[in-house]
Amino acid sequence: MSKALIIGAGGVGRVVAYKCAQNPEVFSDILLASRTKSKCDEIAAAVKRDTGHKSFETAAVDAENVPELVALIRSFQPDIVIHVALPYQDLTIMDACLETGVNYLDTANYEPKDVAKFEYSWQWAYQERFAERGIMAVLGCGFDPGVTNVFTAHAVKHHFDEIHYLDIVDANAGSHGKAFATNFNPEINIREITQNGRYYENGTWVEIPPHSVMKALNYPEIGPKNSYIIFHEELESLVKHFPTLKRARFWMTFGDEYLTHLRVIQNIGMAGIEPVKFKGMDIVPLEFLKAVLPDPGDLGENYSGFTSIGCRIRGIKDGKERTYYIWNNCSHPDAFKETGTQAVSYTTGVPAMIGAMMVLQGKWSGKGVFNVEQLNPDPFMTELNRCGLPWHEALDVDLEL
Ligand code: NDP
Repeated sequence: MSKALIIGAGGVGRVVAYKCAQNPEVFSDILLASRTKSKCDEIAAAVKRDTGHKSFETAAVDAENVPELVALIRSFQPDIVIHVALPYQDLTIMDACLETGVNYLDTANYEPKDVAKFEYSWQWAYQERFAERGIMAVLGCGFDPGVTNVFTAHAVKHHFDEIHYLDIVDANAGSHGKAFATNFNPEINIREITQNGRYYENGTWVEIPPHSVMKALNYPEIGPKNSYIIFHEELESLVKHFPTLKRARFWMTFGDEYLTHLRVIQNIGMAGIEPVKFKGMDIVPLEFLKAVLPDPGDLGENYSGFTSIGCRIRGIKDGKERTYYIWNNCSHPDAFKETGTQAVSYTTGVPAMIGAMMVLQGKWSGKGVFNVEQLNPDPFMTELNRCGLPWHEALDVDLEL
């Protein structure tokens, strides 16, 4: 019986709310708080109707305001804060958790608003303060980062003596029928995918122009999809925690139409994060673009197809080279039927709930700041199968990479 405070009432927050409420023996009291309270109320009504959860409250909070967060945490007294608002708020929410002595979990690493740069240094710097306070921060517990880190830890624990090559492959083979839309917060998503690509090789980071390395990879039950190397945040923690890795890369699928839209958006300056003057006001082009693009939370209704995300790993077992592929396919329509949102939000929200469950049940414990690959993968992998994200694995297969 534990209390969870969920911060952020977007697509991911909606899924976390549903999944926590489906497990009332762990999450007996839930508070969903976000900037706009009416969005929390709408989610709460749907969750209560569909799950019958008895103790589900809502509140308004500005997650960039530490005193406001501290007051909310003090009044509700949660055992964990599940942060699924935006990466800009990671540090303020961690500060509030430190002040109140409450465990913390998120799905995306901190990004300063004024530089499109995401790395763990800012959050790893909280290690000593969380350890001294006797509380735990679990970083990056969505799907990627999150499940991909757990998949890698599972491979290391059960299938390899050493892993050498890791390729994380992320396909969205779904169709939402819109000319252009992003599957999670457009501002965060466009900042991520318009950066230079970056991967790790032989102890250094190799930087490449955006979308300049492409390969058609085959995804289970989907077939071939053009996949591009991009930088993704879990690479940073995985190469730190698995130092036998000689190379680690991240591939994401993009359709030609999507890339054309993205190129135009960039060429006309709409991906900019510097404010421009418009009719006497300061406007950030990317923030304005977010306001006119479809809300990812609304894409679910007619979304068909699957996501397929997994890890392709090459290494050594008993002196012999071995290959291994582990993946999950998630159906957009099934995710929508269960939670009212599409598979990208679903695949992020389910692991966030499971990570919180691990902490609340004491299956993941420790004092300080942790990336999920540092924690025991076994109970998490069991819950993935039970909670809607079943995984599959294949040994000694052609990895194509
Ligand atoms: P949305 O934009 O749909 O939702 C974000 C929510 O946060 C909104 O409800 C918004 O409120 C709220 N919010 C924004 N600023 C504040 C603030 N200052 N105080 C309180 N609430 C605030 O995003 P998603 O649900 O798509 O994504 C949520 C998170 O999940 C992001 O951090 C994203 O990076 C991460 N993510 C992680 C993935 C993974 O696999 N690890 C994959 C996909 C996403 P309002 O509605 O009022 O604007």
